[in-house]
Formats: sequence, C-alpha cells, structure tokens
Amino acid sequence: MNNFRHYIDSIRQGESYFSFERKSNIIAYMLAAIHFITCIIFALIPLITLAVINGCLGVFYVIIIRNLIKQHKYTASLYISLLEVLVISFFETFCLGITSGFILYSISMISAIFYFTFVMDHFKKKDIIPLIFSLFCVASYCVSYWLMQVIEPVYSLEGTRWPNILHIFNALVTFAFLIIFSFLFIWEIKSSQGKLDSQNKQLHEMAHKDPLTHLMNRRNMNQILQQEMTQLKSTGRRFSLILGDIDDFKKVNDTYGHDAGDYVLVTVSEIISNSIREGDAVCRWGGEEILILVHDPLNSAANAAERIRKNIAEHPFNYEGQDIKVTMTFGVCESIPGYRIEDLVQRADEHLYTGKKSGKNIVVFHTSANTNENYD
Ligand code: GH3
Ligand code: MG
Ligand code: MG
Repeated sequence: MNNFRHYIDSIRQGESYFSFERKSNIIAYMLAAIHFITCIIFALIPLITLAVINGCLGVFYVIIIRNLIKQHKYTASLYISLLEVLVISFFETFCLGITSGFILYSISMISAIFYFTFVMDHFKKKDIIPLIFSLFCVASYCVSYWLMQVIEPVYSLEGTRWPNILHIFNALVTFAFLIIFSFLFIWEIKSSQGKLDSQNKQLHEMAHKDPLTHLMNRRNMNQILQQEMTQLKSTGRRFSLILGDIDDFKKVNDTYGHDAGDYVLVTVSEIISNSIREGDAVCRWGGEEILILVHDPLNSAANAAERIRKNIAEHPFNYEGQDIKVTMTFGVCESIPGYRIEDLVQRADEHLYTGKKSGKNIVVFHTSANTNENYD
C-alpha cells in the first residue's frame, strides 16, 4: 500500500519512477501482447497466415527487441518497432480493408516518435526526425485509404462480426497508445521541471549564500542595504548596522587548526542567526567579520549586539574534545539619511576598531570621547 502511494506521489511530482530501460521494456511487452491478441483473433476467424505472422511478431518483440533494449540499443529498437508497426498496419489494411481499423496504428505512432525523441538525449536532429516520421505516417494512412478504395482486400470478412471486433480492438489500442504517450510526455516534462527547479535552487543558494556558514553573502547583503537606504529616504524607516569580528581568530587557527577555525565560524554564525529577529539580516561580510542589519534605533541595536556578544562568550565551544575560548567584538551605528552604505559600514568598522583597541570582547556604539558608552 505504501509502495503504491509512493508510486502515485512520484508520478504527481514527475519523478522518474521507472528507468528508461524499464519504460522501453513495458512498451515492448505491450506491443508483443497486442500481436498475441491479434494472433488469437486471426486464429479464431480463422486466418491462419495472419495469425502466424502476428504470433511470430509477438515472439520477435519478446526476444529480439527486448534483447536490443537490454544492450541499451534504444535507437535501433525504436526504429525497428516503429517501422514494424507502420508496415504491419499497412499490410493488414491491405489484407482486410479499411474497416478492420489497422490503419489507425499509423496515428498512434506519431505520439510515440515525439515522446522517444524528446527523452532520448543522443538523438541529434531531434526536431526533424519525428516530423519526417510523422509525414511517413500520414502518407501511409492516405495511401492505404486511397488504395483500399480502388482494390478489394485480400480477405473478405463481409457479413461477419469480425470487422467490427477488429475495428473496436484496434481503435482501443490506438487510443490507449495516445493516452499512454501523452501521459508519459507530461511525466517527462514534470520531471525535467523538477530537476530544473532544484538546480535553480542550488544556483540561487550559490549566488546568495556563503558556502561555509550558510549566511547570506556580501553581495546579497549589499542589495538588501540598498533597499533599506531607499526605504529610509522614502518612509524614514531607520535601521542600524552591527559589525562583528571574532577576536584573535588567527590564534584559533594556529592553535587548533583550520578545521577548528571553520567550526568556530559556523557556530558563531548559528548563534548570531538564532539571536536576531525575523526581518533582520545577517551576512558573512569578510573572513571572520559578520554584518548584521537590525530594524532598531542605535540603543536597541547596541542592546541586541550585547546579547549576541554574551551568547558567544558564554557558549561552550568544543572541537574534537578541545575547549576553545571564543569572543567577539562589535561596532554599532545607526543609519543616517544621505549617507552611502560604504560610509555607514565604515562607521561601524571604526567603532569595531575602537573596541579591538580597548581590549576586545566589547560592544562599541559611540566614538566621541565623552559619550563613549561601551558594554564590557
Ligand atoms: P583580531 O582580534 O584583531 O580580529 O585578530 P584576528 O586574529 O582575528 O584577526 P586577523 O585579521 O589577523 O585574522 C583573521 C584570520 O581569519 C586570518 C584568516 O586566516 C582567518 N580566516 C578567514 N577566513 C577564514 C575561514 O573561512 N576559515 C578559517 N578557519 N579561518 C579563516
Ligand atoms: Mg578577528
Ligand atoms: Mg578580521
């Protein structure tokens, strides 16, 4: 039951539940089954020659075509199958007349060739092959139709119920093929769409996120800052920037190794991401520098920075059994209308620099000598 549900879900999502080999095998078996059923109908009529031909063709699909598929000779198996269906439908129409419905097979083959050329990557002239083959199908249909107006069929089934039975059977098979290939086409398109979506997602991540910390990258943050500046001009909505830098990070690398440094960087990024509010933004600005945008005035932003500083200083960093002491220094500044983004970041950086000079593990948000209010 679960398997069945998984199968239905995979169809809905357009996943390739069946491999191409499996799909080709199913179609080969279907063609074999159609030939065997036709063989039985002909045996019952009885038209033994046609029954034997269809029986042999059924066996041909089970053995030869399946063997070609097994050897991954998909192009050969496709061409032989399409040609066989076209020739046999022409031949059986010639033997039994238009009313037998064998002429209909040439219609269903059009959807088959379009489907297979779509899914088989190694077809070079993808557009032209199905078009040429379709013209053959149209020609085959018209020639058989015209021919049967001027000549009598080889076998006459007039006055019996067999022309009706054959016609219904052949029409059902034709419709079945049209439905199956249309369905497979949608499935294939959905599957390609699914792959494209996940590739796009990956590309988007690569373009917008830092691969190590999974924080947004500098380019993405710059775009957000640009938007914030525009908002500041139009609505007056202010924001603050917090620029953080890990203290003595070089020492961490030198003492515990580069991997331990990476672990510290990732963990610090997680702590910061978990400490900010929805709508605020955090990015890896440079090596071990992290820039945070908060929608708060200066004092609240400084409080937020202090909370983050404490969370980091109190976090038990441990890499492969070794305890690592990690602290971070922060510079905070508030947005100023008319300032450029670079100027604002520069201001936060100046505050950060002041913090580094005054002993690190500190939040600095004023530079003026008398109003210097640092948390420590
Ligand atoms: P300060 O307290 O003044 O900031 O000193 P610091 O040692 O942190 O600063 P410095 O700029 O001298 O060193 C930063 C180091 O960060 C140098 C660089 O090798 C390291 N670094 C930059 N990016 C990465 C990274 O992705 N992974 C690791 N492990 N180290 C990195
Ligand atoms: Mg540093
Ligand atoms: Mg640095």
